[in-house]
Order: sequence, then structure tokens, then C-alpha cells
Amino acid sequence: MAPRVVVIGGGICGLATAHRLVREGLPVTLLEASDQLGGLGTFFESRGRSAERFYHCVMPTDSALLALLDEVGLRESVGWRPTRMGMIVDGAHHSFNSALDLLRFRPLSLVNRVRFGVVSLLLRRLGKGKDLDLMRTEDWLRGLYGDATWSTLLAPMFGAKFGSAFGDVPALYLWQRLGRERNDSVRGYPAGGYKSVIDALRASIEAGGGEVRTSAPVRRLEAGQDRAFVTLDDGETIEAEHVVSTVPLPALRGIADEDLARRLPDVQLPYQGVVNTLFFLRKPLSGHYWAPVLRSGTDFDGVIEMSALTGTELHGGRHLVYVMRYTDRESPLYREDESSIARRWTDQLLSLHKGLTQDDVDEVRTFKAPFVEPVYPLGYLSLRPAVEVPGTRLLLATTAHVYPDVTSWNSSVELAGSVTDLLLRDARRSSTQENTAWPAESAR
Ligand SMILES: Cc1cc2nc3c(=O)[nH]c(=O)nc-3n(C[C@H](O)[C@H](O)[C@H](O)COP(=O)(O)OP(=O)(O)OC[C@H]3O[C@@H](n4cnc5c(N)ncnc54)[C@H](O)[C@@H]3O)c2cc1C
Repeated sequence: MAPRVVVIGGGICGLATAHRLVREGLPVTLLEASDQLGGLGTFFESRGRSAERFYHCVMPTDSALLALLDEVGLRESVGWRPTRMGMIVDGAHHSFNSALDLLRFRPLSLVNRVRFGVVSLLLRRLGKGKDLDLMRTEDWLRGLYGDATWSTLLAPMFGAKFGSAFGDVPALYLWQRLGRERNDSVRGYPAGGYKSVIDALRASIEAGGGEVRTSAPVRRLEAGQDRAFVTLDDGETIEAEHVVSTVPLPALRGIADEDLARRLPDVQLPYQGVVNTLFFLRKPLSGHYWAPVLRSGTDFDGVIEMSALTGTELHGGRHLVYVMRYTDRESPLYREDESSIARRWTDQLLSLHKGLTQDDVDEVRTFKAPFVEPVYPLGYLSLRPAVEVPGTRLLLATTAHVYPDVTSWNSSVELAGSVTDLLLRDARRSSTQENTAWPAESAR
């Protein structure tokens, strides 16, 4: 019998890991705490149709994700569209897509507009050969763009993701992000939404003999040299030869037994969470897919007009708009009640878009997630925890491991690929030592 693998977490990383292991013939059990799969890419139902709780899109450079979609027959379902970007500064709306838009962008002086354009075009090239992992983002960008552009535009814009620590995050993160985006405005979205991808992965795992369990929170994890024991909330214990954990490191520490906790990576990585409110509107906003919001009297600092990418058919003719703020899970905003955030942010969205009235707002929902963006310290390439936990059969595949790549479905799928390679190597080795058949013929 091939070794049983338990995968903890049913987000994209867990789903991609289980999918791949099942295809290699390993018996896999995937355990997801919530009653739905998909993790941060999960969905909710509104009027019989599903939508992502948090805005998601695919980039043309997401090759690992696109290859996975190919395996489950969904690559062709991704619709691609050029998108447009806006910028809302001091309540004024700007288009931010062309050289002409930049020349008209009054929040910066004319000299700084030109400098902004030239530096932005060259930024990737300017980073080559530099040890950006050891350089603060603020030091790099301030030097290139100048003090005024840093403090008027860049600090509030990029700080939206990492909070006040943005200046300290290694410049390598931004450099990688620019590489993913490649100045390309084209974005993709699967025709059936991210739910169609989640459903297809589940179907593939189950068709290959794997087991997928939702509402199955892991309460305790023991992992030794030969075996691991995974205990669920209801007391059931599953024995496994290998465990892959995709849960964020702070949450993993909460379920590891004492011995395992001592072996877990020592890195104390803060995480930003997110508060995100979505609106189904009866009319469009500006048509800009993404618009950062700076100094405009709102608590949120970005607007994503999803329907500019997906069209409105998916949502019965309604326009889907997300607004968000990344924040610490202990912050007053994160702790605030969802309905009170929804009410205040509705008023703020209306105040930003003068032509929009309460009658245009059909439905409002607020969702939060506590662990979204690890806030990487300088030099994280050498601090980044290993995937293998020494002396155990536990492998880690979390967003803390994808750096310097941007946290995304693509980087989670890539990580799932390297973790399964490691696991398969070990599984093959131990089945050879024990002289057992592998992979199990029935599982093929
Ligand atoms: C607002 C927002 C916008 C984003 N936009 C994009 C985008 O446009 N494109 C893109 O590619 N990516 C985007 N991302 C990032 C992307 O969603 C994440 O990088 C990715 O989903 C991480 O997947 P994961 O499987 O590693 O982790 P997660 O999705 O966090 O999955 C971890 C899973 O583990 C489960 N779990 C936790 N504890 C336990 C336990 N004890 N027992 C069992 N299960 C447990 C959780 O319930 C969860 O389902 C966005 C994220 C957010 C929040």
C-alpha cells in the first residue's frame, strides 16, 4: 500500500497538492476547516450565482496556474481582456494608463510626472544586479523617484498592502511583482468563476480516489520521523506517512503538539489581514479595473471594478465592485462588526462617485481574512523557512514560502509542485526500503 498523505487546508495550495499527489497514485486525504473549499479564493452565493469573496484575476504570466487549469480542462475557459487603471487622489478621479494620462496627472509636478514615467519604464532593468532582498523598498524608490513622488504617491499606494511597514519590505518583492505584471494590462478570469476551478480540482481528486473533507478542522498535529497523527475537532485521529500543511504559520503553531512546535521554523513573520466589502451595483463606476484611493476621506484604499474584466452576465446584469483595506487582524477596523463596516463604506463609495446613489446599490457584503500578506523582513531570502521540517514527515507549503514571488494562486500552485516533488521522492525512497509496491496499482 502506498503511503497515505494528509493535506491540511483546502485553499488552492492544498487542492493543487492533493490533485497532483492523487495523479501520482498516492492515497490522499484533504482536510479543510471551513464548510467550503478555496481558502482566500473561496466564494459565496448571491441570487443563485457565485462570486469570489475577495477579488481575483489571472495574469498572462501565471504559467503554473494555467498549466493546472489545462489539466482540469479549464484553460480555455479563461477569458482575457485589457483592463484600465484609475487613481483617486484627494477625491479627484484620474485615468492612469497612458503617457498622456501621466502628463495630465496634477498630483505630481510636471518634472516629477516625467521622472515617474521614465523611471517606471526602466524600473525592472534598474533593479538587475542589485541585492534588492537587502534593500528597503523606501530607500530604493525614494532614490529613483524622488522624495515628493515617494510621499505623495508611492508610500500611500503600496503601503496599502503592507501598512506602515511597506518602506521596510525588501525591494525584491516589488521587483518580482513588476515582473509578474510586465506592464501588461491584460487580465484573465475563468468563465465559471474561481468556483469552477475549485469544483474541478475537487472532482479530479475524488475521481483519482482521494478523499476531500470540508468542515474538518485539524485541532492537533503530531509529526515524528516515521509517522504523523492528525486529530480533528471531533476527536478522530488520522495516521499518515506524510503531512503537507498549507495553513499560515501562526495557525500551524496553534495546532502543533509541543514536540512539533519546537521543530517548526523560528521565523516570526507578521501577516496583514484584509477587510473587503463588495457591492452589486445597478450601474457601472468608472470602468477602471483597479483604482488606488489616496487621501479621499475613505477607510478603504482601493476600488476594484470587477465587472470591467468579467462583464455583468455572471451576476445577472449587476456590476460587481470590491473595496478593500489590508490591515492587522488586531486592528480596530478588523475587529469592527461587518454590517457597520458595510454601512460606512457604502456611504464612502457614494461620496467618491457623485453620480452613484443609494438606489444604485443592490447588495453589499463584507468579508475579512486574518492571514493574507506576510510582511517580509529585509534579507528574507535567507530567513525563509524550509519546506521540510527536520526530523518529521511534515512538509510546509504556505504563503510564507512563496517569496520573492507575489502571493497568488500561481505561486501557490508552483509551490505545490515543488512540495509534491519532494514528497514523491521520499515516498519512493521509503517504499523501496520497505520493499512495498508504489504507487498502489488501484490508485492509478
Ligand atoms: C483581497 C485578496 C485579493 C487577491 N487577489 C488575487 C488575485 O487577483 N490573483 C491571485 O492569483 N491571487 C490573489 N490573492 C491571493 C491568493 O488568494 C492567495 O495567495 C492564495 O489563495 C493562497 O492560497 P493558499 O492555499 O496558500 O492559502 P489559503 O487560501 O489561505 O488556504 C489555507 C486553507 O487552510 C484552511 N485551514 C486553516 N487552518 C486549518 C485547520 N486547522 N484545519 C484545516 N484547514 C485549515 C483555511 O480554512 C484555508 O482554506 C488575493 C487574496 C486576497 C485576500
